[in-house]
Amino acid sequence: MPSDTMPGLETGSSPPRQAQILNGRFDGLTADQTVEELIRTIRAGERGILSTVNVAILMMMRSNPRLQRFVDGSRWTVADGQPLVWASHLWQQPLPARVAGIDLIDKLCARAVEEGIGVYFLGAEAGTVRATVGVLQNRHRGLDVRGYADGYFGPDQAEARARAVAESGARLLFVAMGVPRQEYFIEEQWKNLGAQVVIGVGGSFDVIAGLRRRAPVFIQRAGLEWAYRLAQEPRRLFRRYLVTNSQFVGLISWSALTQISHIRRATPRP
Ligand code: UDP
Repeated sequence: MPSDTMPGLETGSSPPRQAQILNGRFDGLTADQTVEELIRTIRAGERGILSTVNVAILMMMRSNPRLQRFVDGSRWTVADGQPLVWASHLWQQPLPARVAGIDLIDKLCARAVEEGIGVYFLGAEAGTVRATVGVLQNRHRGLDVRGYADGYFGPDQAEARARAVAESGARLLFVAMGVPRQEYFIEEQWKNLGAQVVIGVGGSFDVIAGLRRRAPVFIQRAGLEWAYRLAQEPRRLFRRYLVTNSQFVGLISWSALTQISHIRRATPRP
């Protein structure tokens, strides 16, 4: 039986954390390794939450202790952004690759078909989540969609939404309600959700349904996905990215400088 303990308190053979980047600890997994780890967890009857953290979320965690605790307590945390992968090299704890939530959706759906695992999609507008399910069912023939629902509901409906997931028998749940709304929901309803693996995927349903475009791969590799998003929604995102990116660059530079001075002091002079 899956355990009902809070995220992070599960036992099981989670991989060791491999990289500490500022206030975040990240698992050194590729997207494919992450998928296999999640499938193994489901097969073993265990439970866990996966957090995908990008620079904006990492900075948000610094001023939001509840979000920081949630991510710290997640069973797995992966780096959803090239700048984080680069930063991991500064501390000589290199992460093997970026793991984007939206890529995990596709890869996990493919494996869910093979393994006969039921999936539930919660979040976004009603039409968007419906379209997302349609797209994924087309891409992954035989996908066992146990249910889906929009992400616009009040606190009084949260428990009923969570119980609907449990009653559907879905073992894998994607929650796409934006950060930190989805994390609060998952934390509060963890005991009622039933699903074994739960992943917050932000605005991914909007992209899968075709409402928003995803940056081309060369832009992703250049670490500029945020700029691509900014170009699509400049008014809403300008302040967010200006603040979080400058904060990240400042903190990383400061950490790198203090590290260099530590190394210098620790190195014996000839
Ligand atoms: N969303 C939701 N419920 C809400 C607010 C937003 O399901 O109460 C969905 C929204 O439709 C979108 C996703 O959450 O699909 C991400 O929203 P947004 O772009 O506002 O998140 P952000 O980029 O600010 O994290």
